[in-house]
Amino acid sequence: MLIDGKKVSMRIREEIKKEVVELKEKGINPCLSVVLVGSDMASRTYVNNKKKACAEVGMLSKEFLLPDEASEEELLELIDRLNKDKEVHGILVQLPLPKHIDEMKVIEAIDPKKDVDCFHPYNVGRLYTGSGIFAPCTPAGVMELIKETGTEIEGKECVVVGRSNIVGKPMAMLLLAANGTVTVTHSRTKDLKSVCKRADILIFAIGKAKFVNEEYVKPGAVVIDVGMNRDENNKLCGDVDFERVKDICGAITPVPGGVGPMTITTLLSNTLLAARMFG
Ligand code: NDP
Repeated sequence: MLIDGKKVSMRIREEIKKEVVELKEKGINPCLSVVLVGSDMASRTYVNNKKKACAEVGMLSKEFLLPDEASEEELLELIDRLNKDKEVHGILVQLPLPKHIDEMKVIEAIDPKKDVDCFHPYNVGRLYTGSGIFAPCTPAGVMELIKETGTEIEGKECVVVGRSNIVGKPMAMLLLAANGTVTVTHSRTKDLKSVCKRADILIFAIGKAKFVNEEYVKPGAVVIDVGMNRDENNKLCGDVDFERVKDICGAITPVPGGVGPMTITTLLSNTLLAARMFG
């Protein structure tokens, strides 16, 4: 089974669109502020995609572009302004930031009520204690895709490969909350293949083009590929070698068209939620 992230995300975005209309009728105009520092092309593309997605669901987005040499202080001042702006419901600072800016300091400066990326330690803490307001964007998107396969997570062996704060760790928390038996693996894991091979649900978020082949996958397993890499021909590809895995697994996400669209969809849901709860 091919898990079509575009289709699932379109379905959810249609719902969001309706809810945006309802909120607007109550005088609340959901608005996401997107802050980009520097001229990195990939980041520029991500920001454009987010703006486009907002427009498609009728949500307002405001873009703030700062030059490569912008100081940490300038950025913190902008965030302070956005925190105080009653018309802004979500604040997203596109990562990575230039090296002279302390990323954690910037994330911590965002009002947790507007932290639609769910990166602020307050929101991370709430996620870990099972009382989260916002959903972590990529992992929550993955949960929707697993649901799409009809697979029950409860009691299943779930292996997450990668332990970043953005994907791996929050992913593990969501699977745990859904009563999965969760193993988190990383670059120091011994015998990764055999750990992966026992999984019913496998999530790869390592950032290595076509790293995973059939030797990592139990027949029938659900395989979710979060990776976004370039192959030897500069073509977008995942962490999983799709051609080698597709016939052995039970379900698999393609790259592109799998997890990617879902991440932005969760961002839209979070902005809508912020507008509804705190707007
Ligand atoms: P990071 O680089 O922050 O983390 C990578 C993780 O993978 C680390 O925990 C690292 O282990 C682990 N790892 C690296 N090599 C291996 C290996 N050989 N075996 C086992 N584990 C390994 O990446 P992110 O989590 O930010 O992103 C991962 C991938 O997902 C990237 O391709 C990124 O582009 C993509 N991504 C896609 C999104 C989407 O919307 N589709 C959103 C976010 C990310 P260790 O901790 O030991 O170093």
